Amino acid sequence: MAKEAKQTKEKKPAKSTAKRRKTVAIDVFKAWCKGCGICVAFCPKGVLAHDEDGHAYAKNLEACIACMQCELRCPDFAITVITEDRLNAGKGGISHV
Ligand code: SF4
Ligand code: SF4
Repeated sequence: MAKEAKQTKEKKPAKSTAKRRKTVAIDVFKAWCKGCGICVAFCPKGVLAHDEDGHAYAKNLEACIACMQCELRCPDFAITVITEDRLNAGKGGISHV
């Protein structure tokens, strides 16, 4: 008698949220920010805007998905995305504060 194959459907594990980076703050070093607007233009979530002096700032931090586009594209290294995992790793990047 042939053994019946067990029909054990393995459940796919739920997508882990452990690796998702939560943004704590967007730090703009104003002395280096020339207000070019590149970070504002490339942010896919409309997080960034210009303040009254033309510097970038996080107008809508809650919408940030920590994609790092602003930080990677800033030609003046003026903007830093501070995430929980960076802080936990001791890499807050806010040495000028
Ligand atoms: S890309 Fe850099 S220099 Fe340009 S507005 Fe943003 S932070 Fe400032
Ligand atoms: S990390 Fe991404 S979503 Fe967050 S402010 Fe920068 S460009 Fe926008």
